[in-house]
Amino acid sequence: MLKGIAASSGVVVAKAYKLVQPQLTIVRKTVDVNEELERFEAALVKTRHDIETIKEKAVGRLSDDDLAIFDAHLMVTFDPEFTGQMTEMIKSESVNAEFACQEVSSMFINMFESMEDAYFRERAADIKDVSYRLNCHIMGYELANLSLIQEEVVIVAHDLTPSDTAQLNKDFTKGFATAIGGRTSHSAIMARSLEIPAVVGISGLLDQVKHGDIIVLDALDGVVIVNPSDEELKHYSAKAERFAELKNSLKVLKDADSVTTDGHHVELVGNIGSPVDADKVLENGGEGVGLYRTEFLYMDAQSLPSEEDQFVSYKSVLEKMGKRPTVVRTLDIGGDKELSYLPFPHEMNPFLGYRAIRLCLDRTDIFKTQVRALLRASVYGNLCIMFPMIATLDEFRAAKKFVKDTEAELKAEGVAVSDTYQIGMMVEIPAAAVLADQFSKEADFLSIGTNDLIQYSMASDRMNEKVAYLYQPYNPSLLRLIKMTIDGAHKEGKWCGMCGEMAGEELAVPLLLGLGLDEFSMSASSILQARKMVRSLSYAEMKEMAEKALGMSNQEEVLKLVKSTLKVD
Ligand code: PEP
Ligand code: MG
Repeated sequence: MLKGIAASSGVVVAKAYKLVQPQLTIVRKTVDVNEELERFEAALVKTRHDIETIKEKAVGRLSDDDLAIFDAHLMVTFDPEFTGQMTEMIKSESVNAEFACQEVSSMFINMFESMEDAYFRERAADIKDVSYRLNCHIMGYELANLSLIQEEVVIVAHDLTPSDTAQLNKDFTKGFATAIGGRTSHSAIMARSLEIPAVVGISGLLDQVKHGDIIVLDALDGVVIVNPSDEELKHYSAKAERFAELKNSLKVLKDADSVTTDGHHVELVGNIGSPVDADKVLENGGEGVGLYRTEFLYMDAQSLPSEEDQFVSYKSVLEKMGKRPTVVRTLDIGGDKELSYLPFPHEMNPFLGYRAIRLCLDRTDIFKTQVRALLRASVYGNLCIMFPMIATLDEFRAAKKFVKDTEAELKAEGVAVSDTYQIGMMVEIPAAAVLADQFSKEADFLSIGTNDLIQYSMASDRMNEKVAYLYQPYNPSLLRLIKMTIDGAHKEGKWCGMCGEMAGEELAVPLLLGLGLDEFSMSASSILQARKMVRSLSYAEMKEMAEKALGMSNQEEVLKLVKSTLKVD
């Protein structure tokens, strides 16, 4: 039995699919030309076959634009400038195929990456992708493609990137287990939005699990069992059934009010990463969107998404949500969220570096495209624009002014912009929490991003399981920062939400209610459970409990208090 962190709930039993991304070490060798050409041709055929299959499988799941990427990849494999040059190099220099492939592709990648035009930079990403696949085949490595999986599996990996996670096909991927990561790593967040059970941060995972082993993934208690006994199988099948029943029983609360026993209303809304996720929020009775992470739009693309592409996505979410408030966060890239086509210089501390609003205020070309798309979409719903990683009032003012200037520009072009959209900010840096009252004079709303606020307050990397013990949402110091933020907003008559994962935690909801939080934004799959909880609590009692918690000295005391008040263990 292996222990990890339950990141997305559910219980499943399936075969392990061990994901290994080969690290290629390529050295130049002198070879027999004819044999080498055969090896190269065979790898090329396999590469084309892969690409065709990936495309076939993706029809219906991806947009036509996204599908076109695979046509571009196929074209590369037939391009005489590209594969033709490799063949020439093998012939004329008697070198090994992988070396020729590396040499020719690096030349093209460097050339395209240095070009100004986004179209050509996109070609560099295509060439990287195709040449990696080709070289894996030349060198005899099986290259996993998660969207090609055709049987029910639990994916076992060191880690999954957000784009790996985005490719998972829910019909076959019953869950995943990773060796690193925490509840707030982005693959965990995506697993919750896709409703795929996940356990993360399991040390020793890759040593213990072989490809094809049967594993139980208990993502309620964060447990993985390798090759379970009959008895264990019986136990976990029953547990899976009970979980499915509980999920069903919550459905009656879909249209119920989020109101406490003594009449205090709050809003329970969803975190989304794409327009499709908005449907899940509605299916689960969400009263709005509290965080649309627009960076996934950028991460899933091969180059910076155009104003038109962004407009289509934002409009779609706003239309789906109708009158319900829809908080769209501007690009929050950097930290663990990278863009292959926009490489940043290496930084010692990327989480404290050039990212999010810092990058947008510097790369105003990128920011302008997004803000124009957002404002154009504003007339289709109830838009709230939110800036990530605000540290100073000057930054907030600059970002807000940028939006206002862009609005004037659009209006001068005759484009309609809503006159009721709101502009707010995330509070995820302690400096912003402490100064929340000042920010609230100028922001329409605040939303607390505890995923980052905790890591910055405790100086504990949210991705690092070695320091996970310091990642303490219930530490009174954190509760005081939250309280300061909420009070700061209320002092200026503004609303305060929370879109960090804490907002959906069963033990946190009562505390946050007592601290006066107005809006709770969480994975769609947590909304109904949270509604059940809110409807069972008294606001007056929760206020009293929160007041006591603020005066405590450590997380354990707070957790004990909450559990004894709620009578749970
Ligand atoms: C947060 O930091 O709490 C947050 C919601 O943003 P992200 O998890 O995307 O960094
Ligand atoms: Mg954040």
